[in-house]
Amino acid sequence: MNRKFLLAGFIILQPLTVEASWQERLLLSPSKVKGMQSVEQGQSASSPNPLNPRVITLDFGREISTVSSLDVSMEDEGVPSSVTEEFETVLEWLQDPPLDLSESDNLQISWKKDIDLNDNEPPEPRLTYAKLSNQDQDIELIVSEGKNNAVLLFKDEMLIDSFQPPIMDAQLTSRFGIRRHPVYGGARRHNGIDLAAPLGTPIMATAPGRVAFIGRRSGYGLVIEIEHDADTISRYTHLSRSASGLAVGDTINSGDILGEVGTSGVTTGPNLHYETRVNDRPVDPLTEGKRILSGTIYQQQNYQEVLYEARERFQSIIGTSTDPSLAALSE
Ligand SMILES: [Zn+2]
Repeated sequence: MNRKFLLAGFIILQPLTVEASWQERLLLSPSKVKGMQSVEQGQSASSPNPLNPRVITLDFGREISTVSSLDVSMEDEGVPSSVTEEFETVLEWLQDPPLDLSESDNLQISWKKDIDLNDNEPPEPRLTYAKLSNQDQDIELIVSEGKNNAVLLFKDEMLIDSFQPPIMDAQLTSRFGIRRHPVYGGARRHNGIDLAAPLGTPIMATAPGRVAFIGRRSGYGLVIEIEHDADTISRYTHLSRSASGLAVGDTINSGDILGEVGTSGVTTGPNLHYETRVNDRPVDPLTEGKRILSGTIYQQQNYQEVLYEARERFQSIIGTSTDPSLAALSE
């Protein structure tokens, strides 16, 4: 797969895939993407088979030398803010931050962006891969594709963690444990974590299980609980609504959408208060809770292959961006 950066305002003819005898081309006009043609190799391009897909997904990537602040470096390089947030969300979920980020020598990061040919508002760009390197170690993250978009974390090519955050790009506004309550004041135990995200942001199941409860609980507002085994549940609260058709007893997979971020119950703004409980005892979702739940994700995968594929994809994305001024113009 050979992909290049696309420039708004130019007409380009760019082979997107070269596979067997098929070649697809993307045509861009100054105002918008005109459409996609698929032509059989050797056939005249004047008789293309129009495919007219509604959405085209493009890959982007950057290689960044982190000097001081990772945030600033990513913004300078034109990494979309949704991708930066997703990256930071994922880092929050790492048990022990594996690197002092300011000391990292190099960051490779790639993301996907949809272009909607029907002019619908496309979703925000999504993180797909990141590699943080310094002299001691390489940390690599893969947001796996498909139904289950769990995050795989590698350290020097070894899989050391896999997990599914309930929201992919949220701000961790409150951790587990003793804290000052934002509404009632006073020191109280916080039984979960708070993830701030815009109203309507989809909330995903963090592990496979069964829907055990959908309804209101005082303070929590609209709540969904997933039973993962007899002892362990995950609890999602303050929702604005549950996913249509979702019912108690349903079997769900990790990454399935349960509902949307809201402000129901006692909140200071739209956020997900997320809990994991073992025998009804709350445990820290970022450490013990994650360890218990993520054991069920990706046990059967061939990790090495997934990692090499992700690296190859990154190289093919970045390899074509030889002119930094063009890369900077690409969005
Ligand atoms: Zn909370």
